[in-house]
Amino acid sequence: MSDRHSWCHGPYCHQKQTQDRVRGVKGNKVLRTRKVRWYQSNVESKWNYFCGNTCLHDYINEHLRAFIGIAPRLEPLETPIEVKKVHHPEEQYNWGTRKAYTETVINRIDNVNR
Ligand SMILES: [Zn+2]
Repeated sequence: MSDRHSWCHGPYCHQKQTQDRVRGVKGNKVLRTRKVRWYQSNVESKWNYFCGNTCLHDYINEHLRAFIGIAPRLEPLETPIEVKKVHHPEEQYNWGTRKAYTETVINRIDNVNR
């Protein structure tokens, strides 16, 4: 197991009042940013940079403009689909009758061809 690590990138990680963040000696204590261990050093994961959801979302909120600027969405994307109406007839079960109904089925065209 690798001991590769980074400091949590959460901008307020060092302000959260939990015992595991307390460092220092009596009279000179601090709350310190958590260290995040890379469990698999060859795998890129957000959990290599953030100690939890709160710090991840704090980071996104704090840097939202820059974050969105990395890959702006200026136009909508589209996924080709096929829409089918599937009719299910009335059926009898032990517990009673399931009425007939029509289901709308949406299939991605790239899935249909695979
Ligand atoms: Zn954190």
